[in-house]
Amino acid sequence: MLSCRDIAAKASDHLDRKLTFSQSVSYGFHLLMCGYCREFVRHLRTTIELAPHLAEQNQLGDDEAARIAQRALEQTEDTQGPQ
Ligand SMILES: [Zn+2]
Repeated sequence: MLSCRDIAAKASDHLDRKLTFSQSVSYGFHLLMCGYCREFVRHLRTTIELAPHLAEQNQLGDDEAARIAQRALEQTEDTQGPQ
């Protein structure tokens, strides 16, 4: 089974649907079993979805929006789960 650290490391590939079928199954199984990682992925997805809208409202460029999303990803990776 993947660790919480693995889930955080592969979160962007998961959201971008870049995982293989077997990786995706393992990923989904971990999310099924781990509420912390479900919440982590949910927050990350929300951040990625909102970043372009925040850019529009704040008149940030796409590069700045991408940096904000990347910073959010790095910060969540720094605060690992219980495993
Ligand atoms: Zn987990």
